[in-house]
Amino acid sequence: MRKSLIVLLVALFVGGFFVFKNNIFLKNELSKLMASEIVYYPKDSNESSTTVGGNITSSVGLDLAGSALPSFAQPSETSTEIKNQPINYCGNNMASLNPEDQKYCFKPPKENAFRLFEINLTDNKILFYENGVVQKIFPIAYQAPYGIWFETPTGYFDIGVKTRKLKSSVVPVFMEDAVQFYEDFFIHNIPYWGDGSKVTSQFSGGCIRLNDDIAKTFYDTAKTGDAVVSYVTLDNAKLKDNFFAPVNLSQFWVRQRYNSPIRSGGVWSGDKKEEYIQHAGLDLAPYKDAVDRGVYAIYPGVVVNIISNGHGDAGLGNTIILEHKINGEKIYSLYGHLSSIEAGIKIGDIISGGQKIATVGNTGYGCDYWKIGKDGCDQPGENDIHLHLEIKSEPVIGSPKSDTCVIPNGKITNCVGYTSDNPWLFGYQDPMNFLFSSF
Ligand SMILES: [Zn+2]
Repeated sequence: MRKSLIVLLVALFVGGFFVFKNNIFLKNELSKLMASEIVYYPKDSNESSTTVGGNITSSVGLDLAGSALPSFAQPSETSTEIKNQPINYCGNNMASLNPEDQKYCFKPPKENAFRLFEINLTDNKILFYENGVVQKIFPIAYQAPYGIWFETPTGYFDIGVKTRKLKSSVVPVFMEDAVQFYEDFFIHNIPYWGDGSKVTSQFSGGCIRLNDDIAKTFYDTAKTGDAVVSYVTLDNAKLKDNFFAPVNLSQFWVRQRYNSPIRSGGVWSGDKKEEYIQHAGLDLAPYKDAVDRGVYAIYPGVVVNIISNGHGDAGLGNTIILEHKINGEKIYSLYGHLSSIEAGIKIGDIISGGQKIATVGNTGYGCDYWKIGKDGCDQPGENDIHLHLEIKSEPVIGSPKSDTCVIPNGKITNCVGYTSDNPWLFGYQDPMNFLFSSF
């Protein structure tokens, strides 16, 4: 009985509870928090809690906008040689990889960082790139199931604090080789009880678990400040009958899922749910070498709204909203951050399914709305190019139902693109489930 209660508590706390980093916290608040919630068990004096106390802000990450980064080969439009022979991003490591892992060799890394960890949640692998070449591939033992609170976050992050061993003061569970990749989310070993037996609960609280030996190697490889991209691919996505892909599925990947947790800042209250907003749409980003950057109507429909960048776009930039009638019900699809809308398209136009309506872009960012990744809030870069796709019950730029969000800069706003709780409650549907029969 007692153990089952503990299992329940573990389900609530393991993996997700350990709040180390919040850029908004004052340092003394943070140390108070850490002192009260976490007990550290350094293995030896060289791995003491000093590794935890320092380097806790994401600002120590690589300056991606700077010119100091070593460059590495990228597909070039001018070189026919490269066009005919795709770049091998596994370099000389390719031969040492098993056949399944060799498939990563010809997909460009998703960020031009010198050191980059790609968390591929579709294949359950973490790829480590150095200078644009895959160096190591770590298998993931367990991630949080998709669609539940908390699912494992997706997006651009960076490695935060590292700690060799930690224990929750709330439940008697230990974790080793814990590496923070986003706010409350860590990559660590399989947690265990005080008697050494492994925690079998499948609830990870959004953290990523690696088998113990893998977790050790990962810990030794990751450095605070390393770039991280957590994503799913569209490689296995199968469209439902009568639906059309919003982008070229072979040239895009999912950089942020519906419902993905986004830290909203504010004061730590002990309730994670209060501190996060959730992504109301699906972000689809082109591979760096993508040729087809078109945006296509997911279903036949009518143009009911076009919003231009900077004109009441609430951060979504150039946006188009289509109305569809599906099984007798009116449903709206919203396409945001567009670089341009196809010439001649206007409100009232009838659009056929699969018709090209726009081109992906990175319009509409602003400090008053949100900040994505490490970019300055008014400096969208190449990493920000993506389609923000929403499926919703009303043809509005924001939430179909009234909602208030605290966004990462601490401001309270009407929620646009995000919701304060499960987006389903506010009239949004998950575009992945809406469009695909499997993925
Ligand atoms: Zn989005």
